[in-house]
Amino acid sequence: MDYSTMHPESLMMSHGYKPSLSEGAIKCPIFQTSTFVFKNAEEGKRFFEIAYGIKEKEEDEELGLIYSRLNNPNLEVLESRLCLWDKAEDSAVFESGMSAISTAILEFMEPGDLLLYSKPVYGGTDHFINHFLKKMHINSVGFLAGESEEEIIARIDATGNKRMTMIHIETPANPTNALIDIEMCARIKDHYSTEEKSVILSVDNTFMGPLWQHPLKHGADLVLYSATKYIGGHSDVIAGACLGSKELIGRIKGLRTFLGNMAAPFTGWLLMRSLETLKVRMDQQAANAEKVAAFLNAHELVENVYYLGNLATNGTDQEKEILKRQYTSYGAMIAFDIQGGEKEAFAFLNNLKLIKLAVSLGGTESLAEHPQTMTHADVNPDEKVAMNITEKLVRVSIGIENSDDLISDITQALSASKLKVVLEDDLCM
Ligand SMILES: *Cc1c(COP(=O)(O)O)cnc(C)c1O
Repeated sequence: MDYSTMHPESLMMSHGYKPSLSEGAIKCPIFQTSTFVFKNAEEGKRFFEIAYGIKEKEEDEELGLIYSRLNNPNLEVLESRLCLWDKAEDSAVFESGMSAISTAILEFMEPGDLLLYSKPVYGGTDHFINHFLKKMHINSVGFLAGESEEEIIARIDATGNKRMTMIHIETPANPTNALIDIEMCARIKDHYSTEEKSVILSVDNTFMGPLWQHPLKHGADLVLYSATKYIGGHSDVIAGACLGSKELIGRIKGLRTFLGNMAAPFTGWLLMRSLETLKVRMDQQAANAEKVAAFLNAHELVENVYYLGNLATNGTDQEKEILKRQYTSYGAMIAFDIQGGEKEAFAFLNNLKLIKLAVSLGGTESLAEHPQTMTHADVNPDEKVAMNITEKLVRVSIGIENSDDLISDITQALSASKLKVVLEDDLCM
């Protein structure tokens, strides 16, 4: 049997870990240590030569353990496992998704450079781009799902900035599941790349990865994750990851060493534990989401349902084509417009019993929130309408509960919300 042809889910319990190096422990222990003892001074010298790139690594030579800000067994084993899903050469784990995103952008961009990004992006990323990067004299241009390659190129050229250095996209977009074509972005990347400098294309794959979308295959250079979401999956840890070629991840790990935002050993251990059940959790979440979406599609108090499965039948030709090319599942994120407005949406959220009212997503328990006033409160109000982020929009992250129970909870919260709103309106008269 060939180990290298096995599926990632078969390797999540063992890959990259040697029990013989840890007293035979079946599981990788938590290496709760700040530093590592060198066998001798010569070894310490050699490790530093490699770590700082003073001398080249020999073929097959591994970087020795030095200090937990540079490397630690929990992070190394985790990083080798994460690579399997996306077929990446290397990965770097961080103490949050935001630190993975900000470190990747800071490593490849300089003052005066231009960033292209898809809209909407995660609120924290949006803030980082529009506030912190601006302060560093790094400007940006945004584009919406559905805009053509020509329109986007024209907008970049209109800025007069010749230093288009990086493209950062999120697909499907949070909260409405709008689709961005990764291959189109790779063509824009090629358009602006020169012999001396290749534009970097990074994809935040938090919503669909690492199972259902593999951006590297479609021409991306970097895949970014909030590992807080599906990868961690139990709403009990904040973490992030970045995957790509050995060369690019080497540079990102270099900056991580000096920003000091690597994941801690316990975070690494928790994520390894989570990875063992990643596929069964995500498969169950997607199966539940399909049933919940079908229920919402047929409900009289629900107007629009933003779910990838709906695009497969009702989407434009372009959406259908992207859906087929980029995804192997419709995912487990659903947003919908409730009949009415904020009052109805809030009454619905306040009446949920099993589904919890909280931001975040991807965990074992289902969560619901109101993007307009919560996760996307800071987005420019004029742009919100174009993105379908209105007062009647509710976002739900589907968990692993029994789908019948999820549907009964939604049913009772929808009727209770209608009743409550009707009663309140009567009282006002
Ligand atoms: C949550 C999230 C982030 C930020 O991750 P943290 O782990 O909270 O720092 C980035 N991108 C997306 C798409 C997210 O959902």
